[in-house]
Amino acid sequence: MRIAFLGAPGSGKGTQAQRLMDRYRIPQVSTGDLLRAAVANATPLGLKAKEAMDAGKLVADEIVIGMLKERLARDDAAGGFILDGYPRNLSQAQALDALLADLGKPLDAVVLFEVPKDELVRRISGRRTCRHCGRVFNVFSSPPAKGERCPKSGGGHDLFQRPDDNEQTVAQRLEVYEQQTKPLVELYGGRGLLERIDATGQLEEVTARLRDALEKERKSAKPAKTTAKKKAKG
Ligand code: AMP
Repeated sequence: MRIAFLGAPGSGKGTQAQRLMDRYRIPQVSTGDLLRAAVANATPLGLKAKEAMDAGKLVADEIVIGMLKERLARDDAAGGFILDGYPRNLSQAQALDALLADLGKPLDAVVLFEVPKDELVRRISGRRTCRHCGRVFNVFSSPPAKGERCPKSGGGHDLFQRPDDNEQTVAQRLEVYEQQTKPLVELYGGRGLLERIDATGQLEEVTARLRDALEKERKSAKPAKTTAKKKAKG
């Protein structure tokens, strides 16, 4: 499966991508995570990206597209991937089209995570990440279980809050989503690839809705694939 997750910051894309990876045996490809790693390692790209990230703005397309190309070229993405946080504007969507067309591997589905704005803000303010294993928790709704150990450090999860999860930056990120990313809903809807899911409620409920949506897309994609094969043969 080659899947892209669309949704505002805090809509649960990353959390659900992490939960889905095992089921489909495909990696989560988060441009936000790739950028944060570049910033942490103080690479030249990271240094360029940091200012935009701290301000809640989009990092320049050429930086993000370059990172994505490199990431999708790795072996673990050959059998599929979950794009989490990419594409975020029309030119990124076009770059993705070109990249996947070159590989002859178009997207199978785009899932839109729908969450009301006040819930987004509440979720982001409670979001915490484990410094060692990268797992994302929420101190209000899904804290680590009592006594749970981090698989990387062996101790308890060492939680921190992302620097761009502060009130001012969050408002800017939500605005960027409305202005630049939301138009992609129409783009992918027009291609018949879009599945909308209600991303509110318990984690497990959202995962179940997500699986149903992806199974539906998978089934509806089959005839098209068969036709393509027949055409290629005949
Ligand atoms: P995320 O972890 O997806 O919320 O992304 C955190 C920040 O990284 C965003 O606010 C942007 O500054 C930057 N970022 C992540 N993905 C992209 C992208 N596809 N295009 C531009 N900037 C991005």
